[in-house]
Amino acid sequence: MIVYKFGGASIKDAEGVRNLAKIVSDTQDQNLVIVVSAMGKMTNALEKVHNSYFKSMPDKQDMLKTVKDFHYHLVSELFSGSDNPVYSDLENLFNDAEKLIAAGTSFEKDYEYDKIVSLGEIISSRIVFAYLQSQGIDIQWVDMRTCLRTDETFRDARVDFDLSTKLINEAFGKQKGSKYITQGFIGCSANGKSTTLGREGSDYTAALLAYFLDAESVTIWKDVPGILNADPRLMPDAVKLKEISYHEAIELAYYGAQVIHPKTIKPIQNKNIPLYVKPFLAHKEEGTVIHDVHENLIIPPVYIIKTNQVLISISPKDFSFIAEDNMSLIFAKLAKYRIKANMMQNSAISFSIVADNDESKIHYFIGELNSSFQILYNQNLELVTVRHYTDEAIKRVTGSRQIFVRQLSRRTARFVIK
Ligand code: ASP
Ligand code: MG
Repeated sequence: MIVYKFGGASIKDAEGVRNLAKIVSDTQDQNLVIVVSAMGKMTNALEKVHNSYFKSMPDKQDMLKTVKDFHYHLVSELFSGSDNPVYSDLENLFNDAEKLIAAGTSFEKDYEYDKIVSLGEIISSRIVFAYLQSQGIDIQWVDMRTCLRTDETFRDARVDFDLSTKLINEAFGKQKGSKYITQGFIGCSANGKSTTLGREGSDYTAALLAYFLDAESVTIWKDVPGILNADPRLMPDAVKLKEISYHEAIELAYYGAQVIHPKTIKPIQNKNIPLYVKPFLAHKEEGTVIHDVHENLIIPPVYIIKTNQVLISISPKDFSFIAEDNMSLIFAKLAKYRIKANMMQNSAISFSIVADNDESKIHYFIGELNSSFQILYNQNLELVTVRHYTDEAIKRVTGSRQIFVRQLSRRTARFVIK
């Protein structure tokens, strides 16, 4: 059994779906599970539907219509004539969605989010399924909501490993040559409520499936040649890494490398399943492999840049030291607002964190701490991480810019820069 994952960018138009079919047809004699994300930017578009719906804005149906038009247009380019069964699938799905948003909302924002946003993956998988069938590929469609069991932490659901192992092994038979298509990112709770695993969570689904099904490998098809040592739009001399260890991949994802979702590596590492990152436009190229390889591999400096960061410095107003009691209070608030501390540093009387500048969350977080702490913050910063740094690599990213925080460990250098 092997697992292929296609993200939104690889199936953003009819050409992408045809290319997917080509890759699948060129994969012979294998049991294959295909995991797809929502097409193109449809998750963002569905987030807008959810937002309008939740705020009962008059444009909510128009927002949904944008999503509908996108898919109908793509389908009309894939199939000649309008008799393909995918048209009735789409009609049913959109009728349901229109009805859903016509009604008033419950006041559970995240629950409503998962109900609406999960539609992107369902539609995408139905379209790709129909196209693969039309190309004579014998394939079955599986609804991930019937077998990936999660809790009800909507928008960031936690997977129930025991139940999911059982349900997934029942859903995906292993007869030789069988092919399946399913959705990334989505799951379902014991009460039958749709859930999602967090933005960009489809990679994680692919890794989980590989884990549950004891797959031989996972391939993530991307619009880049593999894992590069820098973003080629920022550094044109970026090079591809041929292979890296699981540990290195976890570090890179943790520091914010966009190429794989941070939760993806653990499941495949546990079962020693190799993960390939390959270019979907040149599918015979070898890409990058993440596998069990020794840690001392020679790797060039790897640059990871997170923009739009905020540096928040928190000091007790009573001039007490920053100690465990203060820290636990601060961490409780970070957890409450689901703010991820991308970097932390403390001194005797202040504790600093660097986080994505998501203003709605940061505003409330600061608001709650304001009475006991003095809070200073700087916006519009970059958090730059250089793995396997050299003096030259550090000079390259810092130059003469103002550095707010610097942290160096044996392999990793990090800077908060204006
Ligand atoms: N469609 C979801 C998103 O855009 C999940 C994914 O693409 O991995 O976040
Ligand atoms: Mg995506």
